[in-house]
Order: sequence, then C-alpha cells, then structure tokens
Amino acid sequence: MTSHPSPAATPSGAAAPRGAAPVPSRRLLLVHAHPDDESINNGVTMARYAAEGALVTLVTCTRGEEGEVIPPELAHLAPDRDDTLGPYRVGELADAMAALGVADHRFLGGPGRYRDSGMMGAPQNDRPGCFWQAPVDEAAAHLVAVIREVRPQVLVTYDPNGGYGHPDHIQAHRVAMRAAELAAEAVFRPDLGGAYAIEKIYWNCTPRSEVEAGLAAVRAAGHGFAGVAAVDDVPGVVPDDAVTASLAGEGAGAYADAKAAAMRAHVTQIAVDGAFFALSNALGQPLFGTEHYRLVHGASGAADGEREDDLFAGIGESTDLVGMEESARIEEAAE
Ligand SMILES: [Zn+2]
Repeated sequence: MTSHPSPAATPSGAAAPRGAAPVPSRRLLLVHAHPDDESINNGVTMARYAAEGALVTLVTCTRGEEGEVIPPELAHLAPDRDDTLGPYRVGELADAMAALGVADHRFLGGPGRYRDSGMMGAPQNDRPGCFWQAPVDEAAAHLVAVIREVRPQVLVTYDPNGGYGHPDHIQAHRVAMRAAELAAEAVFRPDLGGAYAIEKIYWNCTPRSEVEAGLAAVRAAGHGFAGVAAVDDVPGVVPDDAVTASLAGEGAGAYADAKAAAMRAHVTQIAVDGAFFALSNALGQPLFGTEHYRLVHGASGAADGEREDDLFAGIGESTDLVGMEESARIEEAAE
C-alpha cells in the first residue's frame, strides 16, 4: 500500500464512512530506513501479529537506492550504472510482505520521496533530496498522517544510533520519535487528522550473549560465506539486562520460517543459507528466530524484572476506546 492517506481516512485506511470497516483492535506500526531492514529486525514479530489478526503497518523511509547488489546478474541495477535499484527493491519489499502476511506497507511521503543517503561519510550524505538532508519535522509530518490514520498502540523503530550508525537509520529514529510526539499534539497540523498518542514505543535490540553464541554457531558450522561477522557488525547489540521484551519465532506459529522467506525475497541485499545469512559484505551472521526489544515509552505488561513476550501486553481495549473517542472529538472540533 503506497497511497498517501487523506485527512478524512478512517483508521482502516479505507475511504468508507467511519465505522463501516472493522478495525483490528491491535495495531502495530514499524518505521524502517530501507527495504530489508524490516525483515531482518522484525520479520518474526510482523508475521506473528499479522497471523493473529492485528493491523501491521510498515513505513519504509527510502527505497534503498544506494545499497550494494549481491547477485552479479543484477549488478546493472546499481546507482553507478542504471540506478534502478530503488524501483527493484520496491518489488522485493512487496514479495517480503507477502511472505509475512503484511498488507499495509508504505513509503514515507510516497515511494522515492526521500532517497537513500548511503553509508555515513559517503558523498551521497550531502545530496539534496536524500533522507539525511530532510528536515526532521517535515519528514515527521508524513508519518503523523499515518499515525493519526492507523492509530497504532505500539511503535517499533531503532535506537538513537539507528542500530549501527547508518544515516538513514539514525534519521528514521529521529523522524519516528518526533512524529509520535507531534501526532499527540492537537494543535499540530489538524489537517492531518485528530490527535493520537501512541501507548508504547520500542527500540530494536539484540542481547550481546545471543549475538556471541550465534556468531560462534556460524563459525562452528560449515558455511559458504567469505567470513564471519564480528559482534560490532550486528546492529543494536545491548547488554542482556537492557532487553525488556522477547518474541520467539519457533514453535507452533513457525514465524521464523516466514522471516527467512521474507529475507530471501530481498534478493539484491541478503544471501540466506539455512540458519545463517550474509549482507553484501559476505560475512555470515545468525538468522535470529527470536526478536528483542527495549520498551522506551509506556508501561511494561510484564511482572517486575521479567521480559514481555507480547508488545501489546498491558494495553486494554477500554483505554483504546477512550483514545478513539477523544480523537474523534478533537477531529470534530477542528472541522
Ligand atoms: Zn537499512
């Protein structure tokens, strides 16, 4: 789904009168920098909530035009040749979303509105129109429109360093956090919909012990990669006790399989080999079947000292209804 929401859109995004379409009671919004980040970081989480009937909305900030292309036969897509990687990756993302069962995926401001800024320090960082050059509040306004339309209780994005310091990841963090703030302010752009406050915000992370064990497993196994990644190559590594929520992909739901399928759909960016994968640096990494989060806004639904196993834990339907009524009232007052 790439259409830009109209101010009068219902929470379902359909152009139907309010209340005409059933709106899932649980709604999750994820904000990512490039196509492929969502599957690597949150594939299990997205597959699980989509399967459970929640509304899962992905907003991707760029088309990833500056990515390196792995398959030699697709090398012509690269920015220094045909420069058609962006549109190609739109197709890869659509295939990945089909694998995860996610129907609502959009690009911030529409596809191609913001271009990939390249790795930190690259000359592309300074190119007009790249995401890194976008004023945060201007970019956040596009996301405010989505937040006020979808009304997610839960937002997932990166930590302030974007997990590993890529300019687009850092900017995605800034834009997501700023949009959450602005969406809740009734005086900000009432033309973008009624004020709405997101209840819980999480940052992606990976516990250090799991990264170390996972990389040891790659080294121990026979694999076809050029080498094995180091801990520092894995984004969002944190001390184990910083993790507040863990969602397992194995078991009855087998969401880890959907995640692996989604990662394989990003053909130009990811080489999947069984339980491992590599990016364009060809360094093997574990394909994590369990995904981890840090709650940075809102109350944990788990007992003291325990991790949540559900990002919606502690969120009540009644609270949501109050929020919806309040937003509708503000929306009416603004008309
Ligand atoms: Zn990325």
